[in-house]
Amino acid sequence: MSERDLLMIPGPIEFDPAVLRALGQKTRGHLDPLFMQAFSRALKNLRVVFEAPSAQPFVVAGSGTLAMEMAVANLTQPGDRALVVNTGYFSDRLAAMLERHGAAVTHVRAAPGDAPTAEEVERALAGGPFKLLTVTHVDTSTAVLTPVQAYAQAAQRHGALVLVDGVCSVGGEALAMESWGVDVALTASQKALGVPPGLAVLLASPRAMAAWQARTRPVASVYLDFAEWLPIHQAYEAEKPAYFATPPVNLIAALDVSLQQLVAETMPARVRRHQATARWLRAAWQRLGLTMLPKSEALAAHTLSALYYPEGVDAALVKALGAEGVVVAGGLHPELKTRYFRVGHMGAVSMNDASAVVAALERVLKR
Ligand SMILES: *Cc1c(COP(=O)(O)O)cnc(C)c1O
Repeated sequence: MSERDLLMIPGPIEFDPAVLRALGQKTRGHLDPLFMQAFSRALKNLRVVFEAPSAQPFVVAGSGTLAMEMAVANLTQPGDRALVVNTGYFSDRLAAMLERHGAAVTHVRAAPGDAPTAEEVERALAGGPFKLLTVTHVDTSTAVLTPVQAYAQAAQRHGALVLVDGVCSVGGEALAMESWGVDVALTASQKALGVPPGLAVLLASPRAMAAWQARTRPVASVYLDFAEWLPIHQAYEAEKPAYFATPPVNLIAALDVSLQQLVAETMPARVRRHQATARWLRAAWQRLGLTMLPKSEALAAHTLSALYYPEGVDAALVKALGAEGVVVAGGLHPELKTRYFRVGHMGAVSMNDASAVVAALERVLKR
């Protein structure tokens, strides 16, 4: 891929030059006052982005998968029951983690491209009690956007904690963690937060922290234990020195820059921008005769598109687009993998980028 190519996959994405410059700056010591200031500001801004003023943020070196396992390791212990709203590949991954940590998992499933209704989730919750309900906000394997708020309301009626995998949504889709009653929401730096890969980001509500505190067994991983990270994050937020494991200094400096941009744009404006881009792209997909994988407009994410290959076209399309300077992703859902492709449109993606993708697709499909 040349430096002029457009990276339009569902993460990593095109990054803002100011974010990349922060990554390339001189590495400061992890106790340098300027670094502590940046980390403190980033933690505070995460509460703004997640709309969770009373949540505890954690930023740890790792990918989104680590954030998922951090949530599971701290919130479950052997014998706990968890209900997984299963919309595809990443829901399966979360279920595997829950089982590895000793939880008994029940699934509420939907066909690829669909999501269980809030009523279906509520009926499954009634078969509990469950300690935890897990939801993939945007399932990156199908581009399905799930009704998290309605699920969370149902979970609250049944006394279950709500864990949201927001790796493909936070910073692009509406997610009001606190007012929706979400207890843990997590993401990774390289998706809609707009920072190169390497940071696992997790916010935990007071209810989630209380559930962690009420554990009867230690967390099965030292690196993931809130007990190790809580004092560190509290210290950094207060700009005081602390050490458990060396923070990825440059990535956190880049996160600080990106979050400042996000907060300046404001979350409502950012969500509207993602919606406008997605709407424009949907009209373009239709014009090109492409069918989206999500079963309805209401279920379609605004951070990426999953599109069936047209008749007589296969994965060679992805390659041909690459030759046109536009990098998109193939399929991921195990049942449909070879039948569709995915275009990411989150973060700093502009209408110019969106137009470039459509134009390249038009050229390639014509051929
Ligand atoms: C990308 C993604 C993940 C995994 O994140 P990694 O950074 O690749 O570990 C998990 N869940 C969802 C919804 C994702 O889109």
